Amino acid sequence: MDTKIINDINDTTLTEAAETIKSGGLVAFPTETVYGLGGNALDPTAAKKIYEAKGRPSNNPLIIHLAEPEDAEKYCYTNEIYYKLAQRFMPGPLTVILPKKDIIPYEVTGGLETVAVRVPSDPVAHRFIELAGVPIAAPSANLSTKPSPTMAGHVIRDLSGRIDMIIAGDDCDIGVESTIITLSPKAKLLRPGLITVDELREICPDIEISDAVLNQHTGRPESPGMMYKHYSPRANVVLLCGSDEARYEFLRDKTDCGILCYNEDTELLRYRYAKAVGSKSSPKEQAKNLFARLRDFDEIENITTIYAPMTASEGIGLAVLNRLIRAAGFEILDI
Ligand code: AMP
Ligand code: MG
Repeated sequence: MDTKIINDINDTTLTEAAETIKSGGLVAFPTETVYGLGGNALDPTAAKKIYEAKGRPSNNPLIIHLAEPEDAEKYCYTNEIYYKLAQRFMPGPLTVILPKKDIIPYEVTGGLETVAVRVPSDPVAHRFIELAGVPIAAPSANLSTKPSPTMAGHVIRDLSGRIDMIIAGDDCDIGVESTIITLSPKAKLLRPGLITVDELREICPDIEISDAVLNQHTGRPESPGMMYKHYSPRANVVLLCGSDEARYEFLRDKTDCGILCYNEDTELLRYRYAKAVGSKSSPKEQAKNLFARLRDFDEIENITTIYAPMTASEGIGLAVLNRLIRAAGFEILDI
């Protein structure tokens, strides 16, 4: 399949992209979190094509993207808390899970009775969804198990030849996927993101945090995506748990390995395969760069292991740590 890449983004080209969605095609598009791979959420065949293009297991449900928070009314059973969350955080990087209405096919929800909804704030995403006039089901626009795409180039590399169109916009501002909260049956954080637990608590004081956020899951987790290997570059990622000094000492003879570190780790940045993810004091910067840095290691042919620090778990740091732990397949070394 020939994939059309749209570099010149305007109402004419976005209308063409919207038409592609309406006629059952797949279009990758930028959002404020990561790039999404979109298809018509009302069309079971489009959902199947999404799973196929990504190589994603079809019991891992898709998030549906809406132009306005009120549009959720058509696709799921909303409640008061949904509207309180919407008023505070939408449009923006928050996904809310609610009981689905019949119009949403089970192909989109991986067979579940609930559906995940999100209203992106990115202006290109917003206009594209508005022009499509249908909800857009979109997982991240990467091949399944790879780090999520935060730059148009990542999407082009993973999905060229597999989908109809790629809207090649700017780099994503946030860099990690949306915060996911389920309200069905009660408020629970399933995936951390830019919107933090403390912020959610202001609206849902009783919010629980799923065990799967930082722990390896046995049995069926609340969010099927948490079962799978995820965010992984080609080389094996290992997290190092210990002081900065212990990390420097441990890595002293690891000159052949990939090293993910902080801007402040000048000691490590002298190594051949060291890359900085951002300042140690800025989890926000780490979030923005994390997936791009993990992908950079794929360009270095001869490394088989990448060592990364256990990052701080407060605020958006929890989102960074959640992704890193999965990238490492839960391999954590006490040093
Ligand atoms: P991605 O599409 O790559 O951003 O991942 C979406 C995440 O949302 C996956 O971890 C899914 O398992 C999760 N998700 C989507 N819909 C639901 C749902 N109805 N219930 C629970 N988790 C969901
Ligand atoms: Mg994903």
